[in-house]
Amino acid sequence: MIPTPDPVRIPAAFADATPAEWSDWRWQQRHRLRTGADLAKVLRLTPDERDACERVPFALAVTPYYASLMDPDDPSCPIRRQAVPTTAELVVRPEEREDPLAEESHMPAPGLTHRYPDRALLYASHNCPVYCRHCNRKRKVGDPTSAPHPRELDAALAYLAAHREVRDVLVSGGDPLSLSDERLESLLAALRAIPHLEILRLATRNPVTLPQRVTPELVAMLRRYHPLYVNTHFNHPKECTAEAALALERLADAGCVLGNQTVLLAGVNDDPEVIKRLNLWLLKHRCRPYYLFQADLAEGIAHFRTPVDAGLRIIEGLRGHTSGLAVPHYVVDLPGGGGKVSLGPDYLVGRDGKTLTFRNYAGERFDYEEG
Ligand SMILES: *Cc1c(COP(=O)(O)O)cnc(C)c1O
Ligand code: SF4
Repeated sequence: MIPTPDPVRIPAAFADATPAEWSDWRWQQRHRLRTGADLAKVLRLTPDERDACERVPFALAVTPYYASLMDPDDPSCPIRRQAVPTTAELVVRPEEREDPLAEESHMPAPGLTHRYPDRALLYASHNCPVYCRHCNRKRKVGDPTSAPHPRELDAALAYLAAHREVRDVLVSGGDPLSLSDERLESLLAALRAIPHLEILRLATRNPVTLPQRVTPELVAMLRRYHPLYVNTHFNHPKECTAEAALALERLADAGCVLGNQTVLLAGVNDDPEVIKRLNLWLLKHRCRPYYLFQADLAEGIAHFRTPVDAGLRIIEGLRGHTSGLAVPHYVVDLPGGGGKVSLGPDYLVGRDGKTLTFRNYAGERFDYEEG
């Protein structure tokens, strides 16, 4: 029996669903909106959105739950912008790349990117409950033919077993929670059988787009594979629902260490107040804001990309003004595989010999004598 979060809001457009169905991730998965016609049943689509649903090649899927968070009348709704295609996705700028982080060329085994000295990224599934319009792995996410073959996973596991310098594996995708509990468990068990892997991380957007997936059965399984870090991807306070809170609570109660990776998106969350509200909600649910990502140079997402100043303003609006726990690292993942670099506002405003002058969050100045 899957307990239903309280209260269950079933929007009018899905009035046929019983509360038990609505709270069942399999029902949500089976009833995903996959076409413009599906979306038109729950939203008043603009002509541009309607046209984009026909023409944009990147996969379209929205869970009824995530659709229920959308404003049916407002195309600028932050949830809608993340999940409903627009024709802006058809515009590819010269600086944009199919594989902006050169993940495919840093693959010692298919489905494994090993870029940093002591950690590696494993692609466990190429499916997601909702396809984010800003996805930087559009090249393969949502394409069933690109899913890793079990034999390929074996090659990745053999690589990890042979490389003792790897002590941290990020299980990503797509979304690893798109695998069945059984398949995910067999992968985690195979990773845990490699003694030098100290920590495992799961990267999943299910708490945001399909929180019903985080069942008591799933977390009972996950807790056998600690230390397990779970990084999720909340972008906006509208995603902060009772269902999402329950998913985080179950993961945290099962001993997972929760982190959040937000992608900075123009017109969605490029506002210090929005990120502050989001991050304070996450902290209340034991999920620590980890990264704020500058949008990558993936093809067809120029309309989401902000100036770097927008990210710096957000960090500036958090640091000192609220709990340090709510301040993520603002990072740019460098095009071509340079890796992540972090940026922050400059608080060092002057230097005279060993006397450094800083400004604080309130704009006051202070001198510090360095050693
Ligand atoms: C982001 C990333 C990691 C993990 O980086 P952390 O900074 O340790 O979170 C590992 N491998 C690849 C290829 C990545 O892009
Ligand atoms: S959940 Fe992650 S991998 Fe899946 S579509 Fe969204 S950004 Fe891409």
